[in-house]
Amino acid sequence: MTETRLSRIIGIDLGTTNSLVAYVDEATGLPRVIADREGRMLLPSVVAFTPEGILVGEAARRQLVRRPQSTVYSVKRFMGRDYEDVKDELRYFPFAIRPADGIVKLDVGGRQVTPPEVSAVVLKALKERAEAHFKEPMEKAVVTVPAYFNDSQRQATRDAGRIAGLDVVRIVNEPTAASLAYGLHRLSEGVIAVYDLGGGTFDISILRVKDGIFEVLATNGNTHLGGDDFDRVIMLWLLEDIQCRHHAEIVRSGLDLARDGEAMQELRLAAEAAKIRLSTEERTRLTIPFADFTYHQDITRADVERLIEPLVARTLEPCRRALADAGLRREQIDQVVLVGGSTRVPLVRRRVEELFGRTAHSHLNPDEVVALGAAVQAQILAGGITDMLLLDVTPLSLGIETLGGIVSILIPRNTTIPTSAREMFTTSVDGQTVVDLHVVQGERELAKDCRSLARFELRGIDPMPAGLPKIEVTFLIDANGILQVAAKELRTGKAASIEVKPTYGLSETDVERMVEESFQYAEADVNARLLIEARNEADTVLTHVRRALGQGSHLLAEEERRGITSALEELEQARAAQDRDLIRDKTTALNHATEHLAELMMDAALKGALGSKRAAEIMESQ
Ligand code: AMP
Repeated sequence: MTETRLSRIIGIDLGTTNSLVAYVDEATGLPRVIADREGRMLLPSVVAFTPEGILVGEAARRQLVRRPQSTVYSVKRFMGRDYEDVKDELRYFPFAIRPADGIVKLDVGGRQVTPPEVSAVVLKALKERAEAHFKEPMEKAVVTVPAYFNDSQRQATRDAGRIAGLDVVRIVNEPTAASLAYGLHRLSEGVIAVYDLGGGTFDISILRVKDGIFEVLATNGNTHLGGDDFDRVIMLWLLEDIQCRHHAEIVRSGLDLARDGEAMQELRLAAEAAKIRLSTEERTRLTIPFADFTYHQDITRADVERLIEPLVARTLEPCRRALADAGLRREQIDQVVLVGGSTRVPLVRRRVEELFGRTAHSHLNPDEVVALGAAVQAQILAGGITDMLLLDVTPLSLGIETLGGIVSILIPRNTTIPTSAREMFTTSVDGQTVVDLHVVQGERELAKDCRSLARFELRGIDPMPAGLPKIEVTFLIDANGILQVAAKELRTGKAASIEVKPTYGLSETDVERMVEESFQYAEADVNARLLIEARNEADTVLTHVRRALGQGSHLLAEEERRGITSALEELEQARAAQDRDLIRDKTTALNHATEHLAELMMDAALKGALGSKRAAEIMESQ
């Protein structure tokens, strides 16, 4: 027996705006966030590339105004995504973003960096924070991602970890982590709504927990809605009030407030500070000094609630849609969890509790709850908590493209991961030595309507008649949602495999759209698939008959040979048209016309030198 010591694993919330690192305190068994040397828990997810070096966190955030072109924020929006997916976002960013080989690169501070490289700087800072706390090297982490992140986005997150020198032992969905922090994995069964409203994003997730296993039933949200929008409406209201009450001074000084970047920044900070104070107080006094006057204003919680009410209302519709997608009524929600700084706003809490008809869990710090849950998961993996298992589900179906462009699904949507699936395929052309494997994701019948995830080739197959090679395709999704596809030709043992690379990105709205489209186009898709299948079958029969005629036409009487040839021509013509019933009929007719020929060939093969190789070949080729 050798002595084993639990290796320490940290839990990381890699956020759009802020990131945190946490661990489970062995003395109390409770998760705790690790502070930096100044006692700050939140590390702003901002990285600045300056001539003096790379800055991260608060130091980088201070560069935002001074060096907008070299300071990267919100990089999470680009992780594992293609240029096409993010080009609508570009107007929000001052730095240049360009397409690069299926991902994007950012032009900052005179260099080109990928989103995982930027996230790695943040992860490394958190790793170092944990190392300073424990006074030992930290090599393993659990990292959280939004529930709607696809394979590419999860893979990019793992890449970021690797670049930072961290082995990402598990990727956990953020709502699952928040539920873990509240100990909801101990429920024997229940449905949980996790409402997450941060600075710039809103997510609602509906989870089911059963015997410690989490399943994502539905997700929804808005990628551009959050506390920053609250600040903006308060700021605009203040601006109007200032322009009205200090009209004379403003005209005299020639100040154009709305275009004065510094004054607007000042107003934005004052608006946010007032909003935060009004989460705990009923009334507050605002004082903003300008060059020619000082603005004073008393502002009440009711004022702010009136201003932000329409924004809060915009979060409720996605909640209703998520409930509908999960096939649940609000009475069926057992637990509500609040995540994100903006859920401290009393109005937000009230509206969410009204919608779901129950009190929400909110006693943990909503900024920390995801990191705390990541630490709980880390502790489970390290072996410190042994009474549970954690699982998630695939958001979209995964499969491969087969003959004629039809999708063959190996892992259906909503399958609990980790999971694996295996299916047998073969070749469609005689003597084919290379098979092209195209991995796709989506709910449509044809590959061209799904997302292309990866392509690879299986080479070196011995030349054989079509249909003889036995190609086994295996899909394996690990606990982090990363997909591995392997193909093996069983006769020759030739194998090839691929781990899905970040070629594309996918947003929550894309997932929704793809599922919706699969319903919308269901009938047309099925018709298209049936036509392709009829053609595929016709092709197989045509190939066999041509080969049989080549080998055995001397066995036939002239009239019978002509009958087969004309049935063959009729099928060739039908195949070129769109009528699948006609193709089926002509295929059956050709099969029927060749029954006698098949019998004759079988007899000839058996009669002729028994055991001869040629006979075996003919038989095998049937
Ligand atoms: P997060 O992205 O979760 O860190 O949330 C950040 C957002 O929460 C920002 O818009 C903050 O202004 C907002 N926030 C933080 N604390 C409070 C508070 N006490 N009341 C209202 N909003 C808050």
